[in-house]
Amino acid sequence: MTAALGKSCGACTMCCSALEIVELKKPAGRMCGDCRAGRCAIYPDRPQICRDFECEWLTSRNLAPPFRPDRVGAILMEDPDSDEYWAVCPPAKPMAWRHPRLFAHLLAVAKSGRTVVAKAGLQSWRVFASGDWGPSV
Ligand code: SF4
Ligand code: SF4
Repeated sequence: MTAALGKSCGACTMCCSALEIVELKKPAGRMCGDCRAGRCAIYPDRPQICRDFECEWLTSRNLAPPFRPDRVGAILMEDPDSDEYWAVCPPAKPMAWRHPRLFAHLLAVAKSGRTVVAKAGLQSWRVFASGDWGPSV
């Protein structure tokens, strides 16, 4: 995948903070120690796990600028290990996915038949096509 036309991470550093990155021994919600002054200080030499990651907003032509993760408060992404569609929020703002704009998007994805899960640290919630949502088990 590559960034969609006209898109770039810009000032967003959400994946450097909200995501757990096992390879860097970085827990969810803690900013990576190599992120300084709002950018990766080791960008040319950043680990492969960072080179490989692109969130859904960055690669999708269908997600408008207000969905950039730092603007909407959650990272939209595919679960690398299943067919789940995730909205990953910082543990400090675990319910950011309930923002009306974001929830409407998650609902539309659920209605398309995908399994939609919102996550924040160790917490997770399933969003159903009916509009119901609740803790994921
Ligand atoms: S969350 Fe997406 S837009 Fe933000 S820095 Fe990471 S890849 Fe770029
Ligand atoms: S190494 Fe750079 S790109 Fe990777 S998480 Fe840290 S600051 Fe972000």
